Amino acid sequence: MLAIISKLKNGLKALKSLKLIIFILLILFTVVPISVYSYCSARLFLSNAISQRVSELQSHATIISNLVVNSEFLNNESTSELNTELSQVAEVYKGRILIIDKKLKILRDTYGLEDGKTIISKEIIETFGGNNSLYINNDGQYVEITVPINDTDTREIVGVIFMSFSTENIFSLYDLMIYENIVFITVFLIIAVFLSIIIIRFISKPINKLNDTIGSISKGIPVNTHEDDVYVEFNRIVDNYHNIIENAKKTEDSRSEFVSNVSHELKTPITSMKVLAESLVSQDNVPAELYHEFMTDIIDEIDRVNNIINDLLTVVKTDNNVSTIVVSNVSINDFIENILKTLRPIAAQRNIELVYETFRNINAEIDEIKLGMAINNLIENAIKYNYDDGWVRVSLNADHKYFYLKVADSGVGIPEELQDRIFERFYRVDKARSRDTGGTGLGLAITRNIILLHRGAIKVYSKEGEGTLFTVRIPLNFQA
Ligand code: ADP
Repeated sequence: MLAIISKLKNGLKALKSLKLIIFILLILFTVVPISVYSYCSARLFLSNAISQRVSELQSHATIISNLVVNSEFLNNESTSELNTELSQVAEVYKGRILIIDKKLKILRDTYGLEDGKTIISKEIIETFGGNNSLYINNDGQYVEITVPINDTDTREIVGVIFMSFSTENIFSLYDLMIYENIVFITVFLIIAVFLSIIIIRFISKPINKLNDTIGSISKGIPVNTHEDDVYVEFNRIVDNYHNIIENAKKTEDSRSEFVSNVSHELKTPITSMKVLAESLVSQDNVPAELYHEFMTDIIDEIDRVNNIINDLLTVVKTDNNVSTIVVSNVSINDFIENILKTLRPIAAQRNIELVYETFRNINAEIDEIKLGMAINNLIENAIKYNYDDGWVRVSLNADHKYFYLKVADSGVGIPEELQDRIFERFYRVDKARSRDTGGTGLGLAITRNIILLHRGAIKVYSKEGEGTLFTVRIPLNFQA
């Protein structure tokens, strides 16, 4: 049973072949309609020919009936005109005519077999009752017609004409037609099969080539992606596939770079801790102050590792993962004010002036915690990478669609060629300075991720030694 099911499944799979589908469709749309048309036209010919034959016979029957009445045949006065008509009709249509009188006696049989005998038949009796009858037997091989003979004066039925005719010749013609049609359809089928083989070849050649090219690309073998003898549509598929592979490679490269950066970043504090701990262990009678100093350094390094791990977790969480965002309608003015409140003491330590300008009341749908982290990073950086006694200006504005935040500082600035790179994970312009200020190099990567999660944008403008400006644009209504 299982074997049969799996065989059936394989059969169905084979049906999914493009070649087979083209073949079946071609046959279906050519041979089937032609066969149906041929059969229907042969049947139509047959029924037309039979009904024409019947109507011819019926008009002959009427003529005979008139001749019978006029010639007083029923009173045994036959005329040569009637005889000629009877023998002509019987001859031409290859059949038999009986003339029967009221007493059901056969007065005339063109075969000359039943003259004078009495005939009892349902059709003939019914015809005396006033019904013409027409009978075509099942195979259509013969037709029987009965027609009443009416007296011209009294309109009384005085006799019946019974005609039995063969339709064999019509059927021979019909059989011939069917035979010819079968020959024609067979020839057509052979042509259709050849045609579909040619079409399938025509299509499968570029498909096979496409397969080979894609196969080579996935194995990393260099290929010419624009073959001239391949259709443009296929070239586009190859191009897209090429791009997918390139993107996958880039993602893979940046992933391994990220992993190696993480290991490197974690290694530095761990090595410091090891060195500090070993130097304590290797010395006897370490003075309490030195012990205290080294342990404080170890705690600092532990904090650093902790910061890196926390930032890494935030990067991963905010990495294009919209589901992590929890949006609510927030007063942006208060929101920025609260962030500044926590940062003012840090700015004050280095006598950095922190100015906040706001132009209107703004409400927007944001994830307060995440966007708070992003904007905190920007303002904290503006303080960190500033000169003592410098300034930081934060300004907030909005239009009907977005709110705009600007964070400008009078700090060290970023060299123009590095401005694109500062959003990369672990990238720092000045490694030593960043480390001293407790930076992990992940702050701007997190900031950008969060702004992108809000469908916003961030830009940087900076001049080395003069200062930096970050502009942020966030939609007022969150778009999932
Ligand atoms: P970090 O933890 O080092 O501060 P970030 O990702 O926040 O990491 O910033 C990346 C780098 O961009 C910083 O190391 C610094 O060199 C530079 N940078 C960021 N903000 C500023 C700024 N306001 N002024 C000058 N340089 C900045």
